Amino acid sequence: MEFKSAYLQGVYDTVCKRNSGEPEFLQAVKEVLESFEPVVAQKPELVEAGIIDRIVEPERFVQFRVSWVDDAGKVQVNRGYRVQFNSAIGPYKGGLRLHPSVNASIIKFLGFEQCFKNSLTGLPMGGGKGGSDFDPKGKSNGEIMRFCQSFMTELCRHIGPDTDVPAGDIGVGGREIGFMYGQYKRLRNEHTGVLTGKGLSYGGSLARKEATGYGLLYFTDEMIRCMKNESLKGKTVVISGSGNVAIYANEKATELGGKVVAMSDSNGYIYDPKGIDLAVVKQLKEVERARIKEYVNRVSGAEYHDGCRGIWTIPCDIALPCATQNELDADSAAVLIKNGVMAVAEGANMPSTPEAVAAFQKAGVLFGPAKAANAGGVATSGLEMCQNSMRYSWTFEEVDAKLKDIMINIFHNAFNASKEFGSEGNLVMGANIAGFMKIADAMLAYGVCY
Ligand code: NDP
Repeated sequence: MEFKSAYLQGVYDTVCKRNSGEPEFLQAVKEVLESFEPVVAQKPELVEAGIIDRIVEPERFVQFRVSWVDDAGKVQVNRGYRVQFNSAIGPYKGGLRLHPSVNASIIKFLGFEQCFKNSLTGLPMGGGKGGSDFDPKGKSNGEIMRFCQSFMTELCRHIGPDTDVPAGDIGVGGREIGFMYGQYKRLRNEHTGVLTGKGLSYGGSLARKEATGYGLLYFTDEMIRCMKNESLKGKTVVISGSGNVAIYANEKATELGGKVVAMSDSNGYIYDPKGIDLAVVKQLKEVERARIKEYVNRVSGAEYHDGCRGIWTIPCDIALPCATQNELDADSAAVLIKNGVMAVAEGANMPSTPEAVAAFQKAGVLFGPAKAANAGGVATSGLEMCQNSMRYSWTFEEVDAKLKDIMINIFHNAFNASKEFGSEGNLVMGANIAGFMKIADAMLAYGVCY
């Protein structure tokens, strides 16, 4: 038995049977169900209404062919996905990932997590996720455009501003959203807030680009203030990744007084004991789309090491995994703990393995789980939807202030739920339960309609 509750064990066994061969999805479901032990004990009405049985099954899962023509005139075929996991509290909302590793398991794990994360923001958004196994690396602009147009030609049948509002994720930034939005507008002949992460000239929100990274730091700052009575000032920070989340996490960590000494990409990591020069990283990653290795040719005194896991051997006070799922395992967690890490907060989705999370919790390291700590991106996407509905734009400062409020509330909601359900300070449990309760309330109100 993996669960204390026979009911939860039964739910999990069914999920395993229905989704065999989908390890990431099963990992995500297991982690959430483990948090529900006290809910099942205290809220029998939710068990009776089958809320947990229903919440682990997506409302809809769409898989489709994406054909496009490469620069050599050859037809290429990829697989596209959209999972519409739960719409109890609002339209489905969640990003699109373009990466060769994308498959049904990854899309479902991300869509499942997204339901709780979106609920935690306090905004009316359900959970969804999508993407394709298309690899944007090394593709020309024209190839990216043709892929995105073909992808949207099918996806547009399933989405809409009041139905499902996708956004970016790994491999989908402003350029890809532009190509997809243009195609949606052309096919539907309408200008609506059907995607978020849009450019400012056609309905995007100020501060969306910065939101996940900034939000991660607002959350981390509040977590260490409330739980350790400390601040980011003077803290050494290690951030994995050098994409959208990592870059703006670095920017805000530095602004709050921390010193970021390491970043990475999927080939290796850089260590700069003086503190990373973020302008150089932005130039490399946002402008030149170059490898992080190039940093050492531009900044003296910095080191480059092949392989990304080594980044966790650098001593730090705060570790922020911002690259991808399962990038921080038990061995890396042990080294971080030995080196005296005080707090870990997840910028990426599920970057820490279950063994790593357990090790941090056992060692008393503050741990901010992804669905709370990185919710700033989707929260600001929610604010972009608000602005699109009003046909109005807020200033950067207005959006940033709302984002900060939302992140501070998320921390307190997760913390309070951990207290209420008997595990004070366990933010994994707190975030799962706080996110779940709002969805469960709405599902109870609807009766058994789907
Ligand atoms: P980007 O594509 O902008 O950047 C991803 C970064 O992670 C790159 O530096 C990439 O390196 C690195 N990376 C990717 N795969 C691996 C790997 N297997 N091992 C090591 N490094 C890897 O993505 P984002 O910054 O947008 O997303 C990062 C994470 O944050 C994802 O888990 C995403 O789901 C999550 N997230 C993103 C949000 C957003 O608003 N963007 C919102 C909430 C969560 P390389 O260039 O070499 O591939």
